[in-house]
Amino acid sequence: MLTYKYKLYRTHRTIWLDRMLRECAFVWNHALSLQRRYYRMYGKYISTVDMQKHFAKRIKRNLLYSHNSVEVLQRLDAAYQRFFRKLAKRPPKFRRAADFQSFVYKLSGGYKIDGNCFSINRIKKIYKFHKSRDFSGNIKTVRVKRDPCGDFWLYVTTDAKVESSNTTHDGAVVGIDFGLKTYLTLSDGRVYENPQFFKQTLRDIRKAHRRLSRTIKDSSNHRRRRLELDRLYRKISNRRDAYQWRLAHELCRHYSTICLETLSLDGMRRLWGRKVTDLSHASFVSRLEFVATKYNTHIVHVDKWFASSKTCSCCGYVNKELRLVDRSWTCPQCGAHHDRDLNAALNIKRSGMDALISGSKSAFSGRHA
Ligand SMILES: [Zn+2]
Repeated sequence: MLTYKYKLYRTHRTIWLDRMLRECAFVWNHALSLQRRYYRMYGKYISTVDMQKHFAKRIKRNLLYSHNSVEVLQRLDAAYQRFFRKLAKRPPKFRRAADFQSFVYKLSGGYKIDGNCFSINRIKKIYKFHKSRDFSGNIKTVRVKRDPCGDFWLYVTTDAKVESSNTTHDGAVVGIDFGLKTYLTLSDGRVYENPQFFKQTLRDIRKAHRRLSRTIKDSSNHRRRRLELDRLYRKISNRRDAYQWRLAHELCRHYSTICLETLSLDGMRRLWGRKVTDLSHASFVSRLEFVATKYNTHIVHVDKWFASSKTCSCCGYVNKELRLVDRSWTCPQCGAHHDRDLNAALNIKRSGMDALISGSKSAFSGRHA
């Protein structure tokens, strides 16, 4: 499965898409209030099948097909299931139409994509989009999404597989340590500095926030300042995405095996605060994994409880006194002087190799058992 993202042209016709989103929000809120009332009266949850039946029979929307509303109901059900399994703290809430972001075509009916034209049958409107690249495979779902800036995007998911191009690396193995001071430290000594996009634009953002707070709520000035702020945030995330993709390609082009530490994000956020969201290592890891399939690169995850920065990479001595502020230390057992991040990267590489070797051994013995 691959998803391609295209931007729709800005026209006055997108007002119809806003209306469709408004109807989606109606479906969500109506189903939610039904659930709440049912729970108050009988103490039970309406199953998603019954809810869909009820909507198919009773609740007709002018602009939506039934599979559009079914998808909204499924989203609501998923939100409830997360709450029941204690993955979410609260049950789903009522949503304002302005905050409802997307609707989905799960079946092939109801829309058509022809060249760079996306047409919606129910409202009889054709939207052009910037076709930045061709998509391959058969279309599975199409999602129309409105971003906070009011622009519309088309997400086309197809059944195409990621094609691996020719491998360009020569069997090199590398361990990577994620950090705050430096973005990445590689076990062969290479270092990627932290591009703090957020920090660069932080001043602009503070300014925009101040401007916003001076305006009166629900005034047109307020809306304009809000838009300014949302554009700034979008700019940052675009720059961050571009940087991460480029970096992922560069690493996968060079190395055939990349060892990483599994991240525990909540722990990191508690420890380091805002900067982690700026670094957004987690999104980088998922991008790296995706790019790795293109280059036939192997990604190995090392257990996060393994003390990568406290262990001496020469002799294996564990320095329990090492604090977060110590950037370098000398091993009391063998006398080697370590840079904190490089030492961690070396340890991650070794432990990743160990995991690989023991993994292949167990596969080997399994075959003969
Ligand atoms: Zn040592």
